[in-house]
Amino acid sequence: MIDLRSDTVTRPTQAMRDVMAAAPVGDDVWGDDPSVKQLEELAADMSGMEAAIFAASGTQTNLIALLCHCQRGDEYLVGQTAHTYKYEGGGAAVLGSIQPQPINNEVDGSIALENILAAIKPDDIHFAKSRLLCLENTTGGKILPLDYIDAATRLASEHGLSNHLDGARVFNASVELGIDVKEITQYFDSVSICLSKGLGAPVGSVLCGSKELIKEAHRWRKMLGGGMRQAGIIAAAGIYVLENNVKRLKEDHENAAILGKELAKIPQLDVDLEYLHTNMVFLKSSEGDFSALSHFLEQQGILIDARYTARLVCHLDISREDILTTIAAIQEFYK
Ligand SMILES: *Cc1c(COP(=O)(O)O)cnc(C)c1O
Repeated sequence: MIDLRSDTVTRPTQAMRDVMAAAPVGDDVWGDDPSVKQLEELAADMSGMEAAIFAASGTQTNLIALLCHCQRGDEYLVGQTAHTYKYEGGGAAVLGSIQPQPINNEVDGSIALENILAAIKPDDIHFAKSRLLCLENTTGGKILPLDYIDAATRLASEHGLSNHLDGARVFNASVELGIDVKEITQYFDSVSICLSKGLGAPVGSVLCGSKELIKEAHRWRKMLGGGMRQAGIIAAAGIYVLENNVKRLKEDHENAAILGKELAKIPQLDVDLEYLHTNMVFLKSSEGDFSALSHFLEQQGILIDARYTARLVCHLDISREDILTTIAAIQEFYK
């Protein structure tokens, strides 16, 4: 199978499984798991934060971050298309009594500064308390410009808000820009990073932030049922991917660029090349939806995420050859 539906579909390699099998473990709820501790130290170090906490998923690390930053009756400013708003089941509102203030995203994935400013509420008993700005990078595969991040987070800080980054794929951004990831994370009070997307771990995310924030995060994680015991087994995979799979994300971006460029030559397809920054190719078709293409590809062992738009995501388990096979199959379909 050539599975381009998402970069979450990667399978652990034998080397990763070996590291997991041999991982020293303890009871992480007691704070005794050496592999979890090692992963947390590594993640904190790489992101330039004081501390980190390992959790089951990015949904959980984002929720923990929101619970740490906001109290009941507070609100967070967030993009209309952001994962933390649209794709996390309304967790902040359901479990934290935290009101989301969604704001339209611009085509480049940013939230316009004037819209952030307009959404920050004055101190007035009618309003929820604006407490946090939440940005996402990459967002839909797009990289937020550093000067934008600087300006947006500064604006939020000037109005007394904290800043959280949903950095599920922040390493895709840093690798593509050729910069240390700290150059992105430095603007934020907390950052959530997925180990199980393009980095290729089977499970897990890390939340990085100040010692104080991470201390509080431990309480919320336990309350959410996220206190895992001998979690070193999965943390070991996290260490493995942070040590081995960051730089190679560039290969996924190169594959996505080739895929996008070739598919753009097909007259029936509209490929967003301008914002094809990293590992995701988005297609629209003059023929409407993609169910026929998706069905055709599936018969040849190629899976894509096809709705009104189609999304093809490159990752660790997609080789250059797979990309060429996919291009040929899609050309054949539209011939
Ligand atoms: C995948 C993802 C998450 C977290 O997802 P989980 O599946 O819960 O790990 C958060 N934000 C973004 C932008 C994501 O793509």
